[in-house]
Amino acid sequence: MIKENLAEVEKRIQAACDRAGRKREEVTLIAVSKTKPVSMIEEAMDAGIIEFGENKVQELSEKYDILPENLNWHLIGHLQRNKVKYIVDKVKMIHSVDSLRLAETISQEALKKNVVVSVLIEVNVAEEDTKYGVKCEEVENLIEQIAKLENVKIKGLMTIAPFVENPEQNRQYFRKLKQLSVDIKTKNKDNVSMSELSMGMTGDYEVAVEEGATMIRVGTGIFGGRNYNIV
Ligand SMILES: *Cc1c(COP(=O)(O)O)cnc(C)c1O
Repeated sequence: MIKENLAEVEKRIQAACDRAGRKREEVTLIAVSKTKPVSMIEEAMDAGIIEFGENKVQELSEKYDILPENLNWHLIGHLQRNKVKYIVDKVKMIHSVDSLRLAETISQEALKKNVVVSVLIEVNVAEEDTKYGVKCEEVENLIEQIAKLENVKIKGLMTIAPFVENPEQNRQYFRKLKQLSVDIKTKNKDNVSMSELSMGMTGDYEVAVEEGATMIRVGTGIFGGRNYNIV
């Protein structure tokens, strides 16, 4: 099932790239394996996937310990400062940095482990009350503060768009995040790269790719629906 799902997702990414005149290599597919067993991750690995996303520190750590070292782990969910120490040396990227305090903790823990951690700034583009992330107006100032930290490297921006029936409704938010990233890039800030744009999930990744996503985070479309009650 996973293999077939991946083939379908792959086909749709390619089609979205074609529509937008983009190359397939510009988009990294992150398979979001939260709540899913190691056996399903192994199935995705057999189909060639090495980028995986988790939203909880403990679950990421457990899977990291069991699975091969060549996998790249992305922490995509809200991160508590007291848990940073468990994952700084395990993740390829933290997508959910939305405060200076969190970034400072990441830098301190990264220094202890002698690593530099790549991070994305989470932006609440749609300004939903229920979501983490900073407002568009706050991004530049936050980036300037975080850029001063030694063991953190800003790679770009991330957003979780609203849950909508019609993905077209989210196009405005993806476009706005892309524009924000372009605006910041033009300013050539020290220690800040705007090469990554993490946006788009199962319901709206095609629109996100059309609007410039370089990383899409797809869970349900690859692994099927999640049942939080039986975990
Ligand atoms: C769960 C999750 C996803 C994947 O969601 P699907 O709709 O299942 O593709 C993507 N991003 C974040 C931050 C998530 O928590």
